[in-house]
Amino acid sequence: MARRERPSWDDYYINIAWVVASRSSCIRRQVGALIVVEKRIISTGYNGTPFGVKNCDEGGCPRCASDAPSGAGLEYCLCVHGEQNAIALAARQGTATEDASLFVTTRPCFNCLKESVQAGIREVVYDQPYDYDDELEEAYQLLLEQSGMVMRRHPYSATHPVPPIAGPASEDSGPEMPSGG
Ligand SMILES: [Zn+2]
Ligand SMILES: [Zn+2]
Repeated sequence: MARRERPSWDDYYINIAWVVASRSSCIRRQVGALIVVEKRIISTGYNGTPFGVKNCDEGGCPRCASDAPSGAGLEYCLCVHGEQNAIALAARQGTATEDASLFVTTRPCFNCLKESVQAGIREVVYDQPYDYDDELEEAYQLLLEQSGMVMRRHPYSATHPVPPIAGPASEDSGPEMPSGG
């Protein structure tokens, strides 16, 4: 029997991140993240309301349920981002995230980037891009530069089927993520 071609590590992890995203209850956008240390997945997270709060798709987050335009009202959004959940879950379980890689379905927001730096994550690999306004992008790039964080895109979903997600899948269909990304 011919030897089956195995997926690359990047394909493998990003594919799993999409499966993780499919568990999200956020009605705005579904994002999945996983933290990898020495090739082992030590934590996963998808975006949604905190433990004890009704799920986003059951009305748990008034902001997501409102008609707030994309990017607006984020300061009162209850949803925890997938990256934050992955970091918090590792903390909760007492698992070190030092020198880890973070694989995520959408480019992280600025806050998740800051938290990743502080969690000792050294590399972020994302699938789908996300655009920020110039001012934020400038701060984002400054943080990347000064922290030494390595960030790269692995556009897995451009060439592979991924589980259906609620949010816009294409980069030009309008930003929605920071509520849930
Ligand atoms: Zn939500
Ligand atoms: Zn975020």
